[in-house]
Amino acid sequence: MCAECFIDDIKSRVLNEVRKYHMFNYNDRLLLALSGGKDSYTLLDTILGIHEASKLGVITISEGIQGYSRDEDVVWIMSRCRDLGIDIVRVSFKEAVGYTLFELVNMSKVSDIDVSPCTFCGMIRRRIINRYARELGYDRVLTAHNLDDESQTAFINILRADLSRLIQSHPGGPKLSDLFVRRVKPLRKVYEWESALYAYLKGFKFQEAECPYITTEPTLRAKVRDYFRRLEALEPGVLLRFLNFIDDLVSKFIDESLKIPSLPLCKLCGEPTAHNRSICKTCELLIKVGVMRWA
Ligand code: SF4
Ligand code: ZN
Repeated sequence: MCAECFIDDIKSRVLNEVRKYHMFNYNDRLLLALSGGKDSYTLLDTILGIHEASKLGVITISEGIQGYSRDEDVVWIMSRCRDLGIDIVRVSFKEAVGYTLFELVNMSKVSDIDVSPCTFCGMIRRRIINRYARELGYDRVLTAHNLDDESQTAFINILRADLSRLIQSHPGGPKLSDLFVRRVKPLRKVYEWESALYAYLKGFKFQEAECPYITTEPTLRAKVRDYFRRLEALEPGVLLRFLNFIDDLVSKFIDESLKIPSLPLCKLCGEPTAHNRSICKTCELLIKVGVMRWA
Protein backbone atom coordinates (compact mmCIF):
# COMPACT_ATOMS: atom_id res chain seq x y z
CA MET A 1 0.00 0.00 0.00
CA CYS A 2 1.05 3.59 -0.52
CA ALA A 3 1.14 5.84 2.56
CA GLU A 4 -2.26 7.37 1.80
CA CYS A 5 -4.01 4.01 1.39
CA PHE A 6 -2.30 2.67 4.52
CA ILE A 7 -3.63 5.60 6.59
CA ASP A 8 -7.14 5.15 5.13
CA ASP A 9 -6.98 1.41 5.84
CA ILE A 10 -6.13 1.97 9.52
CA LYS A 11 -8.91 4.57 9.86
CA SER A 12 -11.52 2.28 8.33
CA ARG A 13 -10.43 -0.69 10.48
CA VAL A 14 -10.77 1.45 13.62
CA LEU A 15 -14.22 2.58 12.50
CA ASN A 16 -15.24 -1.05 11.77
CA GLU A 17 -14.19 -2.17 15.24
CA VAL A 18 -16.02 0.76 16.88
CA ARG A 19 -19.19 -0.10 14.94
CA LYS A 20 -18.92 -3.87 15.36
CA TYR A 21 -18.93 -3.61 19.15
CA HIS A 22 -21.03 -0.41 19.44
CA MET A 23 -18.16 1.13 21.40
CA PHE A 24 -19.84 4.54 21.62
CA ASN A 25 -22.66 6.59 20.19
CA TYR A 26 -22.70 9.82 18.27
CA ASN A 27 -23.60 11.92 21.33
CA ASP A 28 -21.30 10.27 23.85
CA ARG A 29 -18.66 12.29 25.67
CA LEU A 30 -15.41 10.38 25.34
CA LEU A 31 -12.40 10.60 27.64
CA LEU A 32 -9.21 9.50 25.89
CA ALA A 33 -6.56 8.13 28.26
CA LEU A 34 -3.29 9.06 26.56
CA SER A 35 0.27 8.34 27.65
CA GLY A 36 1.88 10.40 24.89
CA GLY A 37 3.32 7.55 22.82
CA LYS A 38 2.61 6.47 19.24
CA ASP A 39 -0.57 4.60 20.15
CA SER A 40 -1.89 7.72 21.91
CA TYR A 41 -1.30 9.75 18.79
CA THR A 42 -2.94 7.14 16.53
CA LEU A 43 -5.96 6.90 18.83
CA LEU A 44 -6.42 10.67 19.00
CA ASP A 45 -5.99 11.09 15.24
CA THR A 46 -8.34 8.27 14.20
CA ILE A 47 -11.04 9.24 16.72
CA LEU A 48 -10.90 12.86 15.54
CA GLY A 49 -11.92 11.51 12.14
CA ILE A 50 -15.12 9.91 13.48
CA HIS A 51 -16.18 11.97 16.52
CA GLU A 52 -16.64 15.66 17.20
CA ALA A 53 -13.69 17.26 19.00
CA SER A 54 -16.14 19.17 21.25
CA LYS A 55 -17.27 15.82 22.75
CA LEU A 56 -13.72 14.64 23.53
CA GLY A 57 -11.57 15.04 26.63
CA VAL A 58 -8.07 13.80 27.35
CA ILE A 59 -6.49 12.52 30.55
CA THR A 60 -2.76 11.90 30.95
CA ILE A 61 -1.19 10.33 33.99
CA SER A 62 2.33 10.89 35.21
CA GLU A 63 3.40 7.78 37.11
CA GLY A 64 6.72 9.16 38.30
CA ILE A 65 9.22 6.54 37.10
CA GLN A 66 12.87 7.46 37.62
CA GLY A 67 14.80 7.70 34.36
CA TYR A 68 11.68 7.56 32.20
CA SER A 69 9.63 10.55 31.26
CA ARG A 70 7.06 10.90 28.51
CA ASP A 71 6.62 14.59 29.19
CA GLU A 72 8.01 15.70 25.81
CA ASP A 73 5.64 13.44 23.85
CA VAL A 74 2.72 14.48 26.04
CA VAL A 75 3.44 18.18 25.47
CA TRP A 76 3.19 17.66 21.69
CA ILE A 77 -0.14 15.84 21.94
CA MET A 78 -1.47 18.35 24.48
CA SER A 79 -0.70 21.29 22.22
CA ARG A 80 -2.68 19.58 19.41
CA CYS A 81 -5.59 19.06 21.85
CA ARG A 82 -5.48 22.68 22.97
CA ASP A 83 -5.60 23.86 19.34
CA LEU A 84 -8.76 21.76 18.88
CA GLY A 85 -10.33 23.00 22.12
CA ILE A 86 -10.25 19.55 23.76
CA ASP A 87 -10.37 19.55 27.58
CA ILE A 88 -7.23 18.15 29.20
CA VAL A 89 -6.75 16.64 32.66
CA ARG A 90 -3.22 15.90 33.90
CA VAL A 91 -2.86 13.87 37.09
CA SER A 92 0.17 12.37 38.79
CA PHE A 93 0.43 9.39 41.12
CA LYS A 94 1.93 11.83 43.61
CA GLU A 95 -1.29 13.88 43.61
CA ALA A 96 -3.56 10.84 43.74
CA VAL A 97 -1.87 8.68 46.37
CA GLY A 98 0.88 10.92 47.72
CA TYR A 99 3.75 8.94 46.18
CA THR A 100 5.33 8.40 42.77
CA LEU A 101 5.39 4.87 41.33
CA PHE A 102 9.16 4.81 41.91
CA GLU A 103 8.61 5.57 45.61
CA LEU A 104 5.83 2.97 45.91
CA VAL A 105 7.99 0.28 44.30
CA ASN A 106 10.87 1.06 46.66
CA MET A 107 8.53 1.03 49.67
CA SER A 108 7.14 -2.36 48.60
CA LYS A 109 10.70 -3.74 48.45
CA VAL A 110 11.44 -2.45 51.96
CA SER A 111 8.19 -4.07 53.18
CA ASP A 112 9.16 -7.28 51.32
CA ILE A 113 5.97 -7.30 49.27
CA ASP A 114 6.17 -9.38 46.14
CA VAL A 115 4.23 -7.17 43.73
CA SER A 116 5.53 -6.10 40.33
CA PRO A 117 5.75 -2.37 39.46
CA CYS A 118 3.31 -3.01 36.59
CA THR A 119 0.69 -4.32 39.02
CA PHE A 120 0.89 -1.13 41.09
CA CYS A 121 1.04 1.00 37.99
CA GLY A 122 -1.94 -0.57 36.20
CA MET A 123 -4.14 -0.70 39.27
CA ILE A 124 -3.59 2.91 40.31
CA ARG A 125 -3.77 4.24 36.75
CA ARG A 126 -7.09 2.48 36.07
CA ARG A 127 -8.47 3.79 39.35
CA ILE A 128 -7.49 7.40 38.63
CA ILE A 129 -8.87 7.31 35.08
CA ASN A 130 -12.19 5.77 36.12
CA ARG A 131 -12.66 8.25 38.93
CA TYR A 132 -12.01 11.31 36.76
CA ALA A 133 -14.20 9.94 33.94
CA ARG A 134 -17.08 9.35 36.37
CA GLU A 135 -16.76 12.67 38.19
CA LEU A 136 -16.44 14.65 34.97
CA GLY A 137 -19.49 12.95 33.45
CA TYR A 138 -17.88 11.12 30.53
CA ASP A 139 -19.81 8.24 28.89
CA ARG A 140 -16.78 6.21 27.81
CA VAL A 141 -13.07 5.92 28.47
CA LEU A 142 -11.01 5.20 25.35
CA THR A 143 -7.62 3.59 25.79
CA ALA A 144 -4.91 3.15 23.15
CA HIS A 145 -4.33 -0.60 23.62
CA ASN A 146 -3.34 -2.15 20.31
CA LEU A 147 -3.62 -5.67 18.86
CA ASP A 148 -0.34 -6.79 20.44
CA ASP A 149 -1.51 -5.62 23.90
CA GLU A 150 -4.91 -7.25 23.55
CA SER A 151 -3.66 -10.61 22.28
CA GLN A 152 -1.12 -10.69 25.14
CA THR A 153 -3.89 -9.96 27.66
CA ALA A 154 -6.09 -12.74 26.24
CA PHE A 155 -3.23 -15.24 26.29
CA ILE A 156 -2.23 -14.31 29.87
CA ASN A 157 -5.84 -14.79 31.03
CA ILE A 158 -5.85 -18.22 29.40
CA LEU A 159 -2.53 -19.15 31.05
CA ARG A 160 -4.00 -18.06 34.39
CA ALA A 161 -7.21 -20.00 33.67
CA ASP A 162 -9.10 -16.77 34.41
CA LEU A 163 -12.33 -17.02 32.40
CA SER A 164 -13.89 -14.11 34.27
CA ARG A 165 -11.15 -11.68 33.17
CA LEU A 166 -11.22 -13.10 29.66
CA ILE A 167 -14.92 -12.23 29.47
CA GLN A 168 -14.42 -8.81 31.08
CA SER A 169 -11.73 -7.84 28.57
CA HIS A 170 -14.02 -8.73 25.64
CA PRO A 171 -15.44 -5.53 24.05
CA GLY A 172 -18.99 -6.78 24.68
CA GLY A 173 -18.23 -7.90 28.25
CA PRO A 174 -20.43 -6.88 31.20
CA LYS A 175 -20.06 -3.65 33.19
CA LEU A 176 -20.01 -4.97 36.72
CA SER A 177 -20.71 -1.72 38.58
CA ASP A 178 -22.53 1.53 37.96
CA LEU A 179 -19.39 3.22 39.31
CA PHE A 180 -17.37 2.00 36.34
CA VAL A 181 -17.27 4.11 33.19
CA ARG A 182 -17.12 1.63 30.32
CA ARG A 183 -13.63 1.35 28.80
CA VAL A 184 -13.28 0.69 25.08
CA LYS A 185 -10.24 0.05 22.90
CA PRO A 186 -10.72 1.22 19.31
CA LEU A 187 -7.15 0.21 18.25
CA ARG A 188 -7.54 -3.41 19.36
CA LYS A 189 -7.26 -4.74 15.80
CA VAL A 190 -4.32 -2.52 14.83
CA TYR A 191 -0.85 -4.03 15.22
CA GLU A 192 1.72 -2.12 17.25
CA TRP A 193 3.94 -1.72 14.19
CA GLU A 194 0.97 -0.39 12.21
CA SER A 195 0.21 2.15 14.91
CA ALA A 196 3.87 3.24 14.95
CA LEU A 197 3.91 3.55 11.15
CA TYR A 198 0.62 5.49 11.14
CA ALA A 199 1.98 7.97 13.71
CA TYR A 200 5.25 8.28 11.82
CA LEU A 201 3.56 8.88 8.45
CA LYS A 202 1.37 11.54 10.02
CA GLY A 203 4.48 13.36 11.23
CA PHE A 204 4.31 12.51 14.91
CA LYS A 205 7.75 12.34 16.57
CA PHE A 206 7.82 9.84 19.39
CA GLN A 207 10.48 8.55 21.74
CA GLU A 208 11.81 5.02 21.40
CA ALA A 209 12.56 4.65 25.12
CA GLU A 210 10.70 2.00 27.05
CA CYS A 211 9.72 2.00 30.69
CA PRO A 212 12.75 0.55 32.52
CA TYR A 213 10.57 -1.75 34.64
CA ILE A 214 9.71 -3.81 31.58
CA THR A 215 13.28 -5.14 31.41
CA THR A 216 14.45 -4.80 35.00
CA GLU A 217 11.40 -6.51 36.48
CA PRO A 218 9.92 -8.56 33.62
CA THR A 219 6.40 -9.74 34.23
CA LEU A 220 4.62 -12.61 32.55
CA ARG A 221 3.38 -10.02 30.04
CA ALA A 222 6.94 -9.07 29.06
CA LYS A 223 7.75 -12.73 28.42
CA VAL A 224 4.55 -13.30 26.41
CA ARG A 225 5.27 -10.13 24.45
CA ASP A 226 8.72 -11.38 23.39
CA TYR A 227 7.31 -14.79 22.48
CA PHE A 228 4.45 -13.28 20.46
CA ARG A 229 6.85 -11.01 18.58
CA ARG A 230 8.92 -14.01 17.47
CA LEU A 231 5.78 -15.93 16.56
CA GLU A 232 4.36 -13.06 14.49
CA ALA A 233 7.68 -12.69 12.63
CA LEU A 234 7.56 -16.39 11.69
CA GLU A 235 3.83 -16.45 10.93
CA PRO A 236 2.53 -12.98 9.98
CA GLY A 237 -1.12 -12.48 10.93
CA VAL A 238 -1.11 -15.07 13.71
CA LEU A 239 -1.95 -12.55 16.48
CA LEU A 240 -4.90 -11.14 14.53
CA ARG A 241 -6.28 -14.65 13.92
CA PHE A 242 -5.78 -15.49 17.59
CA LEU A 243 -7.62 -12.39 18.84
CA ASN A 244 -10.47 -12.85 16.32
CA PHE A 245 -10.83 -16.44 17.49
CA ILE A 246 -10.88 -15.43 21.18
CA ASP A 247 -13.47 -12.71 20.44
CA ASP A 248 -15.78 -15.25 18.77
CA LEU A 249 -15.24 -17.87 21.44
CA VAL A 250 -15.80 -15.51 24.39
CA SER A 251 -18.90 -13.95 22.80
CA LYS A 252 -20.64 -17.30 23.50
CA PHE A 253 -20.31 -16.61 27.25
CA ILE A 254 -21.37 -12.98 27.22
CA ASP A 255 -25.13 -13.52 27.75
CA GLU A 256 -24.46 -15.69 30.82
CA SER A 257 -21.98 -13.14 32.21
CA LEU A 258 -24.61 -10.37 32.08
CA LYS A 259 -26.41 -12.17 34.92
CA ILE A 260 -23.46 -11.69 37.29
CA PRO A 261 -24.55 -9.38 40.16
CA SER A 262 -22.98 -5.95 40.63
CA LEU A 263 -19.71 -5.80 42.52
CA PRO A 264 -19.76 -4.84 46.22
CA LEU A 265 -18.00 -1.68 47.38
CA CYS A 266 -14.68 -1.53 49.22
CA LYS A 267 -15.20 -0.57 52.87
CA LEU A 268 -12.24 1.79 52.77
CA CYS A 269 -12.35 3.69 49.49
CA GLY A 270 -15.94 3.03 48.34
CA GLU A 271 -14.86 1.81 44.90
CA PRO A 272 -16.08 -1.52 43.45
CA THR A 273 -14.21 -4.62 44.57
CA ALA A 274 -14.32 -8.34 43.77
CA HIS A 275 -17.29 -10.38 45.03
CA ASN A 276 -15.26 -12.22 47.64
CA ARG A 277 -13.59 -9.10 49.08
CA SER A 278 -14.57 -6.42 51.57
CA ILE A 279 -11.43 -4.33 50.92
CA CYS A 280 -10.27 -3.83 47.36
CA LYS A 281 -6.93 -5.07 46.11
CA THR A 282 -5.68 -1.50 45.61
CA CYS A 283 -6.36 -0.51 49.23
CA GLU A 284 -4.91 -3.81 50.44
CA LEU A 285 -1.63 -3.24 48.59
CA LEU A 286 -1.39 0.42 49.56
CA ILE A 287 -1.92 -0.45 53.22
CA LYS A 288 0.75 -3.15 53.00
CA VAL A 289 3.31 -0.62 51.79
CA GLY A 290 2.20 1.83 54.47
CA VAL A 291 0.08 4.22 52.34
CA MET A 292 -3.62 4.92 52.44
CA ARG A 293 -4.66 8.03 50.69
CA TRP A 294 -7.30 8.42 48.11
CA ALA A 295 -8.35 12.02 47.75
FE1 SF4 B 1 3.70 1.00 34.26
FE2 SF4 B 1 4.71 -1.44 33.82
FE3 SF4 B 1 3.95 0.10 31.76
FE4 SF4 B 1 6.12 0.72 33.19
S1 SF4 B 1 5.86 -1.12 31.92
S2 SF4 B 1 4.52 2.16 32.52
S3 SF4 B 1 5.50 0.10 35.24
S4 SF4 B 1 2.62 -0.78 33.36
ZN1 ZN C 1 -10.48 0.24 48.38
